This record gives sequence, C-alpha cells and structure tokens, in this order.
Amino acid sequence: MTLAPCDLLVHGAGVLFSGEQVLEGDGVALGDGKVLETGPSSGLRERWAPASELDAEGGVVAPGFVDAHVHPAFAEGRAGEFALRSRGADYQEIAAAGGGILSSVRAVRGLSEEELALKVAGHFRRMRRHGTTSCEAKSGYGLTVEEELKSLRAIAAAAESTGMEVFPTFLGAHAVPEEHRDDPDRWVDALCDEGLPAAAESGLARAADVFIEGIAFDLDRSRRYLEKAKELGLALRVHADQFEILGGVELAVELGAESVDHLEMLGDGGLEALALGTTFAGLLPAVAHFLGQETDAPARRLLAAGVRCFIATDFNPGSCPCPSLPEVAHFARRRLGLTAEETLTAITSTAADSLGAGDRKGRLVPGHDADLVILDLPDLDHFGYFLGENPVCAVVAAGGVVEE
Ligand SMILES: [Zn+2]
Repeated sequence: MTLAPCDLLVHGAGVLFSGEQVLEGDGVALGDGKVLETGPSSGLRERWAPASELDAEGGVVAPGFVDAHVHPAFAEGRAGEFALRSRGADYQEIAAAGGGILSSVRAVRGLSEEELALKVAGHFRRMRRHGTTSCEAKSGYGLTVEEELKSLRAIAAAAESTGMEVFPTFLGAHAVPEEHRDDPDRWVDALCDEGLPAAAESGLARAADVFIEGIAFDLDRSRRYLEKAKELGLALRVHADQFEILGGVELAVELGAESVDHLEMLGDGGLEALALGTTFAGLLPAVAHFLGQETDAPARRLLAAGVRCFIATDFNPGSCPCPSLPEVAHFARRRLGLTAEETLTAITSTAADSLGAGDRKGRLVPGHDADLVILDLPDLDHFGYFLGENPVCAVVAAGGVVEE
C-alpha cells in the first residue's frame, strides 16, 4: 500500500474536539498547512506517512483558539488604576478624571510605529502561549486619524513577525480624545470623513467598532459612525450594554453587525433584537470579574433564545489584562454557567464564525487551517476548572509546531 506524505501526525489524544463536538479517534493528520484527516491514529498511519509526529499523551486536542475581541495595540499596563480601584474607585470615575483609555492613548502616542509593533508582538506571543492562534485586533488607543492608522500598521507588522493570524478592526470610536472633549461631534466628523475611509481603502482594517456608552459615544454619534463604516464595506463590531443600556444592541442588530460585545446590562429589548437577528453576542466574563462588576451577561438566556455566543478575553490594559482564553474559560464556566464543551465551542468555531472565517478557522475538519492546541487535561470537563495554570502544552499554527 502506498502511503501519502503528510507533514505532522498528532496522536495519543484522550479527547479529540472538533470545535463543535467530540470526535472519534485520537489523531489528526496535517499537511500543506491544512487539516487532512482526523480519526484513530492507527487508521491514519495506514494512509499517511508523517514527516514528524507529536504525542498528545492523553490530553485534549482542540482547534487553535480564536480570540474574537482583543485590544492589543497598547503600550503599558495600568496597574496604578488597579490600585485605585482596589481602594474603591470605579472605572467610570477613573475615566472621567483623565485616566482609563485616555492614559493608554498618551502612552501609544509616545511610541514610534516600530516600538508599538514590538509591544503588540509581545502581546500576541503571550496570547499564543495560552493557545490563541487567531485573533481579532482593534486599534483604539491612538485617537487621532494618523495614530489609529499607526496602530493598525503596528498590528499588521506584529502579525507578520509572530505568525498570529489577525482580523484587524478600526476602533477610532473607542473614546473621545482630550482635544475634542468639548465637541465630540468634531471627532466623529474626523472619523467619518478621514479615519474610516483611510482604514477601509488601505485594507488595514476589515471591520469597524464603536464603544456605545455614556462615557464614550451616544446612540446618534454611533449610528453616524457605523452607517459610514457599513457604506465603506467594513464589517461592524460593537461594544454595548457594558455599564448602561443606550440602545446599542438594537442598533447593532439593525445595521447587521457581526457582533455586539459585553452585554452585562442587556435588557429584554436587546435580547429580543439579538434573538431575531444574525448578530453574534461576544461575552467577556473576565472583564466583569476584573472590574468587580456583579452583573454578568445573561449567557444562558442568550443561548436559550438561539443567539450564537462567543467568549473572548477583551485583552486590554484597563479592564482585562488577561491574554489567556483558558483563564477566561474559568470565568465563562463559573460566572456565565457554560459547560466545558460550550466554552470550548465559544472560543473556537463560534468565534471564527463571528469573524466570517468559520470556513477555515476554529474547526478540526479536513480542509481547515492546521491550527491546533494540545491541553494537558485528563478530560474535557477539566477545561476551565483549573485557575491560574496554563493547560496548553503545545500549539500548532498553519501546520507548524510554534509552542511546545
Ligand atoms: Zn473591548
């Protein structure tokens, strides 16, 4: 019998998870950067001659994680604010006093594009050590048109240097910059007239995002920005209902946004809109934990209503300095009430689908990109059970072993 050559055979999985369900067998054959076949490794060996092998040693083998809500274009952490919050200040008070997002903006503006790209690459490497092989990546700490484009170029350079597969998002509407504080409409004008067109025409962003919140953008300004982005052919992703209900969820669904994220305060109207639309819900349970918020997004109600939910880190310096999806999985299970299987689905296939990439990312099925993780866990139920321990013992991206 002639064996076909393949690049890598992963064998010895205790659990093989497709991104949607547990598969038969313990092995995956990979070649030319794609998944070739899954199944019992004894059978795979009858058809494939691997150039190299990787023993999963009884662990869980799953698709590489897809983090669909990330703010990696930042320079510094904000541990000083964390200390203030530990003493009782809340996120909105810190933002109103010129801290928060605006302090990250000052740090980004102080760096050259090359310096920022090195910071972003460092963030991507930390994410990948925790199993993330693809991520959405937002600008949003530049807040001039040029600084936002600089951030997107730094994201592209970091993707190139690290091999992280990136889905870039223009988030010029993250906050109103200090220089426009007295006249936020002028910043929205700049975003609609220059920022969004430049982001779309340069190809530096595939989507646009807005923070719809009392401390950021009201509904009318958000609508103007999102309608312009849509007209330019950008996909829409939205932050809404984190602290207050302004109608952002209904707006996102009306405009056909890919996703609306946070939803800690989601009301019945927003839930109904999501249930009737096609917009994904992005749930970020480590943020509520980090900010000391008692309310979580109503994950079980969303799922019961048929809304497709992904889980993401929201990795950022102010409200979630956590690059690890396995860590966030703990909060998804503990605070949102998801099962291990639902959580793993939410950070692989559903997250990929929300980015329009479900035909090549987030699933261990033939023809999909050869991204996978090996988790040192005795069974699926242990995913999200351990806290503060990285279960990822190997990462394969585009068919090559990148972390072991
Ligand atoms: Zn965010």
